[in-house]
Amino acid sequence: MWSALQGRVSNRLARHFRAVPHRLPAHAPMVSFTFDDAPDSAAGEGASLLEAHGGRGTFYLAGSLIDQPADYWHGLSNDAVVRLHRAGHEIACHTFSHRRAADLDQAAMAQEIERNRNYFCEVDPSIRLENFAYPYGLASVWRKPQLAKTFRSARGILPGVNRDVIDLQFLRASPLVDCEIDVSGVDRYFDEAVASGGWLIFYGHDVVAHPSPYGCTPALLRHALKAAATRNMPVVTIAEALRRIGA
Ligand SMILES: [Zn+2]
Repeated sequence: MWSALQGRVSNRLARHFRAVPHRLPAHAPMVSFTFDDAPDSAAGEGASLLEAHGGRGTFYLAGSLIDQPADYWHGLSNDAVVRLHRAGHEIACHTFSHRRAADLDQAAMAQEIERNRNYFCEVDPSIRLENFAYPYGLASVWRKPQLAKTFRSARGILPGVNRDVIDLQFLRASPLVDCEIDVSGVDRYFDEAVASGGWLIFYGHDVVAHPSPYGCTPALLRHALKAAATRNMPVVTIAEALRRIGA
């Protein structure tokens, strides 16, 4: 109970403190699709749909979840990680054990990152984990400056378009999750990104016909990709988006 409260407070404080502010260049709307953990269907159907639309995604992975069964899916395999990496998708970082940032002190967080980096370096030595996503979307005001020294960016699950002056260490991301959003909700985010010239980031997990409460159908992903194409918005990885905004 106390720990849950501390976690929520730390997450809330992290939104407002120790920001790494970056002003977006004038009007260059773009979209990133990100998948956390990640289920084998994200690496399969999810990645194929992105590729078919000329886009690439970012996969925030925890070494401990690779090839492991979870409540709603099976974790992607090492082979799938290599395939994604070679196809130009970005392999990015969660904590190795998938523990929340708020439950880790500085030494424990450093160890989590080190273990995760070593894990993926062994899968393919050319994989560099440059960007981080907070497990469960829960940031920590205490770990934020530590992560800022280690990663180019950190992503939460605070919805909304990244616009004007953004915090690189608390990137906003909106759900591409059938339980939470429908096609008109997706369209509204795209319209806001076009109007503001901002950077829209979606997060999700599985991509299957009957998704978990944390995932989406191929139809919803297809809709979002068409929405991007209609608006001439490039579909880029987090790393590529950072390059384009000069971060
Ligand atoms: Zn996760």
